[in-house]
Amino acid sequence: MADPIAHQRRGLLFVLSSPSGAGKSTIARMLVEADGGIAHSVSATTRPKRPGEVDGIHYHFVDDAAFDRLVTEDAFLEWAHVFGRRYGTLRAEVKAKLAAGRDVLLDIDWQGTQKLKAVDPDIVRVFVLPPSMAELERRLRRRATDSDEVIAGRMARAANEISHWAEYDYVLINEDAAACAEHVHAILKAERLKASRRVGLVEFVRRMAG
Ligand code: 5GP
Repeated sequence: MADPIAHQRRGLLFVLSSPSGAGKSTIARMLVEADGGIAHSVSATTRPKRPGEVDGIHYHFVDDAAFDRLVTEDAFLEWAHVFGRRYGTLRAEVKAKLAAGRDVLLDIDWQGTQKLKAVDPDIVRVFVLPPSMAELERRLRRRATDSDEVIAGRMARAANEISHWAEYDYVLINEDAAACAEHVHAILKAERLKASRRVGLVEFVRRMAG
């Protein structure tokens, strides 16, 4: 029988971080496809749109002036400089998803994770590691036709992101995206059942035990 009070809980802020090239976007997509109860929070960014990206789906693409305005209006739960551009989690995005009864998936870097943890200690933090630096470099090279210099820059940034792995609650090694996504899903399902998040539990037990 289904858990009768499974829906009576606080929504989760579920953070996924990794260096670029470790497969995070694929894992995030698989998780959202596999579980209708979690929705991706669409960040605002000042970086230019890449081919295939859609405004409002991958990011809210804004210029510097608009980002400044959002900062002034206190529209961000957190924001950070990443690779010389600005990225931020919009309060309104997160609020709307929680209000709709969904958990919220945040694809943000280590800086954003630290800031979010400071304002909401209840977040769940998952870090995805590549199987090796050599494999990470292979993936970065496969995905773009960039110069050695650009690749070296990406590898340095990846090493910096990786240096924060111990700040996370769960750390996974992505040998295989589907297997890794399954592990992330298992973490999500377990975290949903944490007693401290289940607001209906006290009342349920009181009535059940009489
Ligand atoms: P990309 O430009 O490749 O989409 O993302 C670059 C990096 O920015 C990734 O590590 C991603 O997790 C991070 N990022 C995306 N959105 C946000 C955000 O709202 N806040 C923070 N702090 N980082 C973000």
